[in-house]
Amino acid sequence: MAILPIVMHPDPILEKECEKVTAFDKKLKKLLANMYETMLEADGVGLAAPQVGIDLQVAVVDIGDDTGTIELINPEIVEEDGSQTDLEGCLSFPGLYGEVTRPYSIKVRTFDRKGRMIEFQAQDFLARAIQHEIDHLHGVLFTSKVEKYVTEEELEGYEA
Ligand code: ZN
Repeated sequence: MAILPIVMHPDPILEKECEKVTAFDKKLKKLLANMYETMLEADGVGLAAPQVGIDLQVAVVDIGDDTGTIELINPEIVEEDGSQTDLEGCLSFPGLYGEVTRPYSIKVRTFDRKGRMIEFQAQDFLARAIQHEIDHLHGVLFTSKVEKYVTEEELEGYEA
């Protein structure tokens, strides 16, 4: 496995619609493994392929709870409910944080690494992390949804 360099804003790959995965092969498994390692190294809870310069609809999410690592391949949100507003950041925008409102609960349809379609539900912070990563796959950055930026000093007030 390898740590991949993270692409920073304003690299144009961060704002394009990514290609769908069509080959569920060794190359995809290697990409998932490298993205996972890169996410851990960067202390992130999610990472999308365009953030490592790869134009594919692939993302990994791990918020450090019992759910473990979620691999998203050609994912889509098929149901959403409720609303939550909380702090968000992004590995491609170091030091930038802001409040973003998103659905509280989602149902996700995705493919796993073997090419099988699966569906699952997520709520709260996990749902937020997944939505942030799925946005990346469509060139949508959290900065387009921030309602209020938060300074480093104000950050402490958000730590639960
Ligand atoms: Zn991000």
